[in-house]
Amino acid sequence: MNLDTLAAIAAIAITVLTTLSYICNCYARPFKEHRRCHGTGRIPYLFGRGWRFCPRCQGTGLRLRIGRRVWNHARRLQREAALRDERSTPRREARPHEETGTDEGR
Ligand SMILES: [Zn+2]
Repeated sequence: MNLDTLAAIAAIAITVLTTLSYICNCYARPFKEHRRCHGTGRIPYLFGRGWRFCPRCQGTGLRLRIGRRVWNHARRLQREAALRDERSTPRREARPHEETGTDEGR
């Protein structure tokens, strides 16, 4: 194993570990501190004193991580597709004697 192979393996391992770490972060802590208001939910007025609620985070001081936003979007698409499939498939109404598979009901 030469040095180039070792460097390539290290680069791939670092990339995979960083990605896994980010995925775990998106799962465990989906929200992150909003950068503009530094997590306080308040920003100062441009002129004069005082503060107002941050309009971007609606005063919560939190923002959803990009990875979590992508995950939520994918889940929403999957759910809507499943609902669409369920609605488009015609349901076959079972006749009373077919429900049990026997002729006991007659
Ligand atoms: Zn904010």
